[in-house]
Amino acid sequence: MPSKITAEDEKWMRMAIDIARSKGSDPSTSPLGCVIVRDGAVLGAERNQTQELPDATAHAEMMAIRRACEGIGDMELRGATLYSTLQPCGMCTMASIWSKVGRVVYGAGRGDVHRMYFEDRHINTLDFIADAYRDDIEIAGGCLAAECARLYYGPDDDVPEEQQGNI
Ligand SMILES: [Zn+2]
Repeated sequence: MPSKITAEDEKWMRMAIDIARSKGSDPSTSPLGCVIVRDGAVLGAERNQTQELPDATAHAEMMAIRRACEGIGDMELRGATLYSTLQPCGMCTMASIWSKVGRVVYGAGRGDVHRMYFEDRHINTLDFIADAYRDDIEIAGGCLAAECARLYYGPDDDVPEEQQGNI
């Protein structure tokens, strides 16, 4: 179910952008940021740490979901909103569904960035949400999209092959 972006959403997305930028401003460092908020309180705020850990599943959203669940001592994040600077991948979208977040808000969408950020040519993660058995999860894209997209390689950027994650 799609939902509208509010000024409150933009406030939290700015925080997610700051967290993404804490890795530096070079797109080669994969600066992705995620913040999970409920009732005005931050439950988790993480950047992606795939190379640092190293852990292929350590996307910003996965890390933030882990921190949020640990923090509240509950595997369910009902009523929480997950903010991500980039449209979540299939893994993170599924993790959002499983963790029971109520809403997913992302910044840059699939068309705003290089294809290397997505694992599949055809599957659109928005369909995962639309097709989920849950009818209590909403998704909204394009929150501060231009600002978020500046963190990443653009659709037409010539990215060196060794820096491309999925090709
Ligand atoms: Zn992901």
